[in-house]
Amino acid sequence: MTPCPHHGSFHPTAEPSGQAQPRPITQSRLSRAGELGAMIKTANGRHLDVAAAVLWPALDELEDNRQLTDSPSSTAARTNKTAPGEITTITTATMSERVFQLAGTCNNYPWGKKGRQSLAAQLCAKTPGTDFSIKDDEYYSEMWFGDYPDFPARKLSTGELLKDVLQANKEKLLGSKVNKHMGGQLPFLPKILSIAKALPLQIHPNRDLASKLHEKDPEKFTDDNHKPEIAVALSKFELFAGWKPLGEIAPVFAAVPELHQFLPSGTSPDSKWTDKTLREVTRNLLKASPETTKSVQSVLSTSSTAKNIPDYMPSLLQRLQSQYGPDDAGSLVALLCMNFFTFAAGDAVYIPADGIHAYLAGDIVECMARSNNVLNSGFCPRADRDNVDLFTDTLTFSQAHSRDDMYLPSKPLGKGSHQSRNGRTVVYAPPMSEFDMFKTDLQGPGDEDVLGAHEGPAVAIVTKGGGLLEADGQQFDVKEGYIFFVAPGVEVTWKAGDGKDGLQVHTAAV
Ligand SMILES: [Zn+2]
Repeated sequence: MTPCPHHGSFHPTAEPSGQAQPRPITQSRLSRAGELGAMIKTANGRHLDVAAAVLWPALDELEDNRQLTDSPSSTAARTNKTAPGEITTITTATMSERVFQLAGTCNNYPWGKKGRQSLAAQLCAKTPGTDFSIKDDEYYSEMWFGDYPDFPARKLSTGELLKDVLQANKEKLLGSKVNKHMGGQLPFLPKILSIAKALPLQIHPNRDLASKLHEKDPEKFTDDNHKPEIAVALSKFELFAGWKPLGEIAPVFAAVPELHQFLPSGTSPDSKWTDKTLREVTRNLLKASPETTKSVQSVLSTSSTAKNIPDYMPSLLQRLQSQYGPDDAGSLVALLCMNFFTFAAGDAVYIPADGIHAYLAGDIVECMARSNNVLNSGFCPRADRDNVDLFTDTLTFSQAHSRDDMYLPSKPLGKGSHQSRNGRTVVYAPPMSEFDMFKTDLQGPGDEDVLGAHEGPAVAIVTKGGGLLEADGQQFDVKEGYIFFVAPGVEVTWKAGDGKDGLQVHTAAV
């Protein structure tokens, strides 16, 4: 097989004689190849260029294993039951209901929690009728449940990709606001994260930079969109997010002689800091040699009030060192310059485009503008780090310069409001147009709330308990982990079941 100059890599040519005939390219094989490409591309967290020579044989093998066949003329929707409990659907989507259950997809980054400790895996496994089962020795970092090509959600009853269902029913399922003004796809991407150790110290580039990076390197930067995000804690959640006020950062650098080397040249240790100082200090910290980083960390690992080092720093430094070693520059930037938060369930953070953050531990619902672009600078192997100058030149200092900037409060909607008829729902409303996040908490039997229709699409996940969902003339028994798509214009009623946990639902909606 050779790459085709006209069609990129998805184009088989004749096999040498004696081997099996190449299978015809159908719509469904292309779509499967695309999925497989995305899986290979992201399996180890790096974007690889998947050559045709690898992709097509891999697809052949997958089709053989699952006994999938496909004739060139077959474009009608059909579903193959391939193994007990496993459904694989071939081809494009058909007419769809306005409310339907989804199955999410888990990934396995090494910072995730292991086996059953991972809430992402636990919730994913609760959806019935999928082939997902939890392996004790596997890391489960995230479950995604949007229409993004990586780790895609599927319509549970048919196995179709959510993306295909939405694209085949755009007006009905996405609505005119999303189709006219928001790209005609789900504008947000919801995820559950289960974090055992620090994620890379990162930013998500703004729209301008994203489109430049995407044009230059579409394999690595898959989107031309910005990616502001929110994270809502489901348990204790520890994170670094945004910058400390300059007045808290500068005194530590003034008091510790070993830190003077990171100040911009010509700056005295006592001079007043500006955001420019902070940008240069961050650059210098990230560019320091492993030896320098290591020796400075050993100075900081002993607590000393004389050095203005906050009490939490030495133990937190030890923890980060146990995860990424004593020479990771991410630890210095995070501890010296960034806010450290310990959230309880229900607390939330808003990360603006270009906002620095590193999540450290806990289980969260995360939702972001539709994009997968990231620049990394620490808490990851050196080979995975992006250019330090690109990273530091992009950093934002507005909307991200104190604890209050970063904290995203939940607002009660109040009884009788459109989004919460019984007042059991709160909203997290980040300053972005792509989505709001609603959290419905029902205490016990008989408790219910009605969420009025949204202008755009919504995706809801049951994060605790169980009960009933009534919408669009349908009724669903719901349990923890169940995920639903809700079309624009559909009112939804959630009712708690008899269990002691009540019912908790997180809903992202346009
Ligand atoms: Zn992020």
